[in-house]
Amino acid sequence: MKLYSTRGQSPVVELGEAVLRGLPPDNGLYMPEYIPTLDVSFFEDLPGMSLPDIGYSVCKALFQDYIPDVELRRIINAAINFPAPVVKLSEDTYVLELFHGPSLAFKDFGARFMAQLMGYFNRHEDEKLVILVATSGDTGGAVASGFVGVDGIEVCILYPSGKVSPLQEKQLTTHGKNITAIEVKGTFDDCQDLVKKAFLDPNLTNVLRLSSANSINIARLIPQSFYYFDAFRQLESREGDVWFSVPSGNFGNLTAGLFAKKMGLDITGFIAATNVNDVVPRYLDQGIYEPRPSIRTISNAMDVGNPSNFRRLEDLFCSTWNNFRDNMIGFSFSDSETKHKLSEVNNRYGYLLDPHGAVGMLAWDQFRQTDLGKNTTGVVLETAHPAKFKDDVESIIGEDITLPKSLMDIKDKEKVAYLMPPDYDSFSRYLLDRYN
Ligand SMILES: *Cc1c(COP(=O)(O)O)cnc(C)c1O
Repeated sequence: MKLYSTRGQSPVVELGEAVLRGLPPDNGLYMPEYIPTLDVSFFEDLPGMSLPDIGYSVCKALFQDYIPDVELRRIINAAINFPAPVVKLSEDTYVLELFHGPSLAFKDFGARFMAQLMGYFNRHEDEKLVILVATSGDTGGAVASGFVGVDGIEVCILYPSGKVSPLQEKQLTTHGKNITAIEVKGTFDDCQDLVKKAFLDPNLTNVLRLSSANSINIARLIPQSFYYFDAFRQLESREGDVWFSVPSGNFGNLTAGLFAKKMGLDITGFIAATNVNDVVPRYLDQGIYEPRPSIRTISNAMDVGNPSNFRRLEDLFCSTWNNFRDNMIGFSFSDSETKHKLSEVNNRYGYLLDPHGAVGMLAWDQFRQTDLGKNTTGVVLETAHPAKFKDDVESIIGEDITLPKSLMDIKDKEKVAYLMPPDYDSFSRYLLDRYN
């Protein structure tokens, strides 16, 4: 599988290099040179396939025998070891639950698959690969649990002290083994600056093999295409066209859906659902892409003012506004609308959404009132478990909610983190002491 950079100034590389590098040297984003259409026989077999079976078939077609079958099976079985069930809310409305992984959010799919692929591509190296990650909360947990126990890889996670939720902190700091947490007495931006400096510092890069587990790594997008096929398979009835409503921030999830469509899945279109950070819905409306500083909302994993995957979308659509509009429609919503929808769905269906899923549901409900939306079937992606946002969700519905078992267990584990000022010398010394 060959990949090129969206900027076109870097050489085409094989999958292994793209995954281990993360970003091409020209600072573009890697894109598959060729996205195959899957065989008719795949779609005939789809109703009886499991999620790992689907993943295997998709990767086999995409990777073109770049990874031997036995290894590919092992990678997929290790990464995709939890389900993505579809729940029917009404005749035309389904929810695709993507929160059954260890960190209770869809990012587990990408993080676990990337961890397995990196471990595989790194297998012949004598020296450890050290992965540096700055997190504002969510990504770090998925990355930590994805990489724990992967041979030959060390992960160092930086998070801002006091600025992640207590449960998120436990998800970062209780794994031990090859996962190290650094609690930075500063902001998320401080964490990110430390990581950026480390990658540019020859004193480190000459002696350590550094890499990132960035959200723009192509290995995170690929497994996110699997569950679109799996969702389709689970739909009971299919009234007219099928639209997926995708709560979006950096637009990785939606880009992965477009990959599935390109591979032949009969998705009519995507509803880009955002909170007030609405640069993409605005672009779809007006044809002007204007990044802006992000605004804080209750669906905070989507507080993104300049979505990193926009360049991938432009690449897929040849930067042509009409191509965008043929595949996507966008809506944005305020926090008060989000709270209202969360509570309404809970009352009407007894189904508890999280704030991100509620934005997806709002967008689907708005879409079905348009001409295009009449007599269609909608699948709303539920990107996180409501218990991840316990305080907000409880205050919206006025009831206590119970934590899933994985969160209960983690509450009692002991936090281990190295407290550090936001100071580059301390950080680089720490890395050299620990990993050199
Ligand atoms: C990351 C995240 C999103 C946004 O996904 P993108 O792929 O960045 O668009 C939505 N919901 C939750 C819960 C997330 O963690």
